[in-house]
Amino acid sequence: MIKRPLRLFSAEEQDALVKVLNRVDALGNLWARGFEVYPVDLDSRFVDKFNYFKNELKLVNAKRWLARVHAIFNVSVRFTNERDMGQGVFIDLTRNALRLRWVIKGRAIVIQLTPSEVKYIKERLSEGGKPKLARAWVDGENLYIAITFEREVEPIKPSNYRLVIDVNSWKNGIVWALINGGVGSMGRERPDLGYIEMLYNHVTMLEHKYGTLRRLGMHKSLYGKRLWREIKATRRRLYAYIRDFAQKAAHKLVMKALKYRAMVVIDDVIEESRRELMEEKLPNGLAKAYVLYLRRFVKLLTNQLAWYGIPYEFKRLPSTICPVCGNELTQLPNRVMQCPKCGFKANRDEIPIKWALLH
Ligand SMILES: [Zn+2]
Repeated sequence: MIKRPLRLFSAEEQDALVKVLNRVDALGNLWARGFEVYPVDLDSRFVDKFNYFKNELKLVNAKRWLARVHAIFNVSVRFTNERDMGQGVFIDLTRNALRLRWVIKGRAIVIQLTPSEVKYIKERLSEGGKPKLARAWVDGENLYIAITFEREVEPIKPSNYRLVIDVNSWKNGIVWALINGGVGSMGRERPDLGYIEMLYNHVTMLEHKYGTLRRLGMHKSLYGKRLWREIKATRRRLYAYIRDFAQKAAHKLVMKALKYRAMVVIDDVIEESRRELMEEKLPNGLAKAYVLYLRRFVKLLTNQLAWYGIPYEFKRLPSTICPVCGNELTQLPNRVMQCPKCGFKANRDEIPIKWALLH
C-alpha cells in the first residue's frame, strides 16, 4: 500500500484529491444503495468502475449506514517501453513513478515510488501477477493507493497432508497442526499479550487524562495537544504491532502449507471467539482490536493461499463438543475437556485438531 501525506502535494492537487476522492466515496455509498448516480463534476470512469468492479465494492460492514467506498482505477505497468494508454493508474518502472489520473482533468498526479514499493511491485510481477485494479482514498491527512494483483494459478494438487488452523483463542493464539493420518506437528502463533495490554492500558490512561482536560476546556492547551499526539501515536503502535503479527503468522502458515502441499482447513468462528473474549472479561476496546486482528489474519491468509493456488476450506471445528460421540464436553481445571458419555479427554485447544483428524 502506498501512503503519502497530503501536504507533499501542490495546493491544487491536495484540493482535488480531497474533493474528488471524498465525492467518489459519497456517490459510491449512494450507488451501493441502489441509486443511479450521474455526477457531472467527476470523471465518468469512476462510476463505470462501480458497475464493473461490483464485487470489489463490498461495503465493509453492512450494519453501518455509511461505509467507505474507494475510488477504483484500472492499472497498467511500463517495464521498458510500453505505451502509456492513459489508464487511471500508470506505474512506470523505468522512472519508479506512479501516475494517478481522473482526479485532475487533463493531467496526472505524479507520485515517486520508494525503493520498497518498487520492490513489492516487482516481486508480485515476477511471480506472474498482473495488476488488476488500484484503489485510492483519502483518510485524514494521507492519500492511500492500494494495488491489487491477481494471477492465474494452477491450483496445487494437495498431498495427504492437511494444515488445520484454529484461530479461536485470544490467550492461546493461532493453533495449527499439520496432520497426515495422525498429528505430524503442532504449534501456535501467539502475539505478545503483555505488550498489547500495556499499550492498551497506556492509551486508556491517556484518554482518561485527556477527557478530564476536555471537561475543563483545557484540551487545546499545549499540554492537551501533546497528550492527544501521544494518544494517536500509541494507538498507531498498538495497531501496527497487531497488524505485523497477523502478517507474519499468515505468511509462516502459507509457507508451511506450500512446503507440504497441504490442503488448509480454517476454523474462524469469530462468534465463538467473541464469546470467549466476553468470558475472559477483556476490556471492550481490546476485544475489538483483537477481533479486528482475527479478521485481518484470516483475510491475509486466504488471499495468500489463493495467490499460491493452495486449496483451502472453512470448517467448523468446535472445541466444546466431543469429536468422538458428539456429546457436550465438560470443562475440568486447566482447560481440560472431558466427555461424560464416552470418556474422551483432551486439552481444550487440541479439540478442534481432533475434530479435523476424525472428520
Ligand atoms: Zn464422547
